[in-house]
Amino acid sequence: HSYPAGVAWQDGQYIPVSQAKISVLDYGFLHSDATYDTVHVWDGAFFRLDAHIERFLAGVERLRMTLPVSVPEIREILHNCVSLSGYRRAYVEMVCTRGTARDFSRDPRAATNRFLAFAVPYGSVADDAQMKRGLHVTITNTTRIPPSSVDPRVKNYHWLDLIGGLFDAYDRGGETALLLDSDGNIAEGPGFNAFSVRDGALITPEHGVLRGITRRTVMEIGHEQGRTVREGTLTRDALRSSDEVFITSTAGGVMPVTRIDGAPVNDGAVGPVTRAIMSTYWAWHKDKRFVEDVVYPSQETK
Ligand code: PMP
Repeated sequence: HSYPAGVAWQDGQYIPVSQAKISVLDYGFLHSDATYDTVHVWDGAFFRLDAHIERFLAGVERLRMTLPVSVPEIREILHNCVSLSGYRRAYVEMVCTRGTARDFSRDPRAATNRFLAFAVPYGSVADDAQMKRGLHVTITNTTRIPPSSVDPRVKNYHWLDLIGGLFDAYDRGGETALLLDSDGNIAEGPGFNAFSVRDGALITPEHGVLRGITRRTVMEIGHEQGRTVREGTLTRDALRSSDEVFITSTAGGVMPVTRIDGAPVNDGAVGPVTRAIMSTYWAWHKDKRFVEDVVYPSQETK
């Protein structure tokens, strides 16, 4: 059967995503004690699925959780969620939560970890108009949770700083937010990494950020295009005075930024380096190196 609103897998069953449920006693809900990953399906095929599963497994291990499913099972579950959904463009999430412990124990070791997954329609940080003219970003004074508190390499639901930053950005006329690290340098935003372009070279923050798969893809594209690619400190001023700025996420890919704190970046137009990287990013969706699990071999579904 097909579930137009998306399909979830939970406790061995495929169900409409609207019916997937988590216990109010689950540590994932009560304490954000969970890790997850999101991968996208484009034109009926997964993009860099291996990299996403690898990052997910690393997160599960760092949180000292035990997955109740094997890696081949995860692949099968994700594949089936997509094929049952019928979506050729999907956003696919896998989640491992600490779960619940008997007798409401406070000891996380006593909990039974849970896995669930779902496929929903593909979504983007930037809408069509913003993709064309570039996003207007506000650098917020809310600082990102420091890496000494929560390991940013573990993809997690500790989003209150990101959400607070987003509201701060809206209040100040921005469309999305960039958060600073505790030294006042650029970290990341709600669901994306940031890049600055200067003299054709790419610079992206190194510390206190999720190692985004799109970020990695863009760094590889940069190398293939013969650019200098640097992970390092990116100050507010350096970002504002960039030739070009863009952000990266599974949800939208490479997205141009043309205004920061109300002021245009350079001439305020989407720049040529950003365009070249966006174009290669989407070209790589047809490249056998990165297209990893074809759900629909023919144009049989929507
Ligand atoms: N930073 C954060 C905090 C994120 O949640 C995400 C992904 N949603 C990213 C960066 C971008 O990572 P990716 O390119 O792997 O989607």
